[in-house]
Amino acid sequence: MNFNVTVLGVSSALPTSKRFPTAHVLDVHGHLFLIDCGEGTQIQLRRFRHKFSRLDNIFISHMHGDHFFGIFGLLSSLSLLNRKNDLNIYAPEGLEKMLKSELSPIDIEQLSYKVIFNNHKKGHSKIYEDKRLTVEAFQLKHRVACWGFVFREQQKTPNIIKSKIAEYNLSIAEIVKIKYGADLRTEEGKIIKHEELTRSAPKARSYAFCSDTVYLEKIIPYIKKVDLLYHEATFLHSEKKQAKLSYHTTAKEAGILAKKANVKQLLIGHFSARYKTLDDLQKEAKKEFENTILASDGLTIEITS
Ligand SMILES: [Zn+2]
Repeated sequence: MNFNVTVLGVSSALPTSKRFPTAHVLDVHGHLFLIDCGEGTQIQLRRFRHKFSRLDNIFISHMHGDHFFGIFGLLSSLSLLNRKNDLNIYAPEGLEKMLKSELSPIDIEQLSYKVIFNNHKKGHSKIYEDKRLTVEAFQLKHRVACWGFVFREQQKTPNIIKSKIAEYNLSIAEIVKIKYGADLRTEEGKIIKHEELTRSAPKARSYAFCSDTVYLEKIIPYIKKVDLLYHEATFLHSEKKQAKLSYHTTAKEAGILAKKANVKQLLIGHFSARYKTLDDLQKEAKKEFENTILASDGLTIEITS
């Protein structure tokens, strides 16, 4: 079952010839969840072979152009492709206002499908749930209101060992009870332990996305022990002053936060266009947190628990 993320763009503010602005696409069991939608996102989705038709949910962190300018082109293309299914957008309320205003570059009422807006609320809340996944949003600290997200796969119940069904002649009702943790009492009154009848399902996986923000320890309870943390690392720590002024994080700080949150793996991105090469950013984060990966356009990471 897929649980992987593809980075569609790693640049902050200005794109470079190799780095598109921010967008990630999370594939959960074949369903796509788009996180941020910088300019050119639809081109990147095509380039890295993600089907538009598998996308039903878009999450936008904040209303800075490098995180949402791509939404106009993408919504428009979906209509040209004659999409029929509803599309859910989870975003700051400004996006709904913008898309519904007279000056919007696309006429939201004239699209071939319906757009359902879910505006972010202050603080921390669960914003999405289906049988595969839950998504929580929490506030970051940036120049404008900004949210991070945690995507958590739903934990599957244990599987019944097939041979046990025949061995104990289990009914459907018994199978369901055992799956949810019950032991079996046989007709002779013997107790067969749940653990003996089942094989545990793989551990649920998790992915957190935090961009843009200053270094913020307040979010640690929300991202604690996730399998993969994406955190912005716009600057090297030598430019801490600039990072502070623009409400961004340095690579060193991203590493410190990953360590404090006890995450399994850190992915850094949202790099300033001033950096021609990114090795120093990775080195700096790695000093604090060894298991750090450098994001690059097109990189796909299989998330494991
Ligand atoms: Zn920003």
